[in-house]
Amino acid sequence: MCYNICVLIWVILTCHVANSFVCTDPEIVTRDEWGAKPPTDVENLTLPVPYVVIHHSYIPAACSTKEECINDMQWMQKYHQQNNSWCDIGYNFAVGGDNRIYVGRGWTAVGAHAPRYNSRSIGIVLIGDWTDILPPESQMLAAKQLINMGIRDGYISENYKLIGHRQVRETACPGEALYKEIQMWPHWIPNPDEEVIPVVPLDKEDLKPDPREDPDASLASEDNEIKRHSSTDKDESTSRSIKHT
Ligand SMILES: [Zn+2]
Repeated sequence: MCYNICVLIWVILTCHVANSFVCTDPEIVTRDEWGAKPPTDVENLTLPVPYVVIHHSYIPAACSTKEECINDMQWMQKYHQQNNSWCDIGYNFAVGGDNRIYVGRGWTAVGAHAPRYNSRSIGIVLIGDWTDILPPESQMLAAKQLINMGIRDGYISENYKLIGHRQVRETACPGEALYKEIQMWPHWIPNPDEEVIPVVPLDKEDLKPDPREDPDASLASEDNEIKRHSSTDKDESTSRSIKHT
């Protein structure tokens, strides 16, 4: 009895010391809440998935309030649907600098974020450009909590493998700083292709890469989208969105 009480006190104190992040689920912002447009098509994942793929958004830049992050979600969805002709925002989830989780395609739909891995992974973007600096610790913790939620609820395999986008496609994503960081996260593996069935057909949404994520990619087609965005959206997030151009 005393032992149980002591354990309970220890857990409460540990949660408190860790700023409660490790003991509670992060706040989830539903598609309705961020004003998502409906997907034009949905393909179901086979669950649980064996991979988690980490991304940065590069553009838009980091958001720190719910209002800013909602604006970023809407902009990314518009970019992916209109510029990339994808059926929805590419990622399964996005983690904002406000430590909230924004639902993209969610736990059960195949994403468009990592060629050959889309149908076997959950794609998580940490909104921001993490080339030179790391996301705030709390944003990274929210991403880890999301992965743990996925394991707990049966969407991600317990023995999942964690990789960065650049490990499956030529891209700078998830940014040099974040890529170094995730190599220290649980379940990261260095050579995912060694684990993949040799011939995996590309998904139809793999055919067009996402230049928005990559500072080295051609931004020719993206420029039009960014200009259109900036001319129709005058709030603060617009200037954040175009800071890289
Ligand atoms: Zn990426």
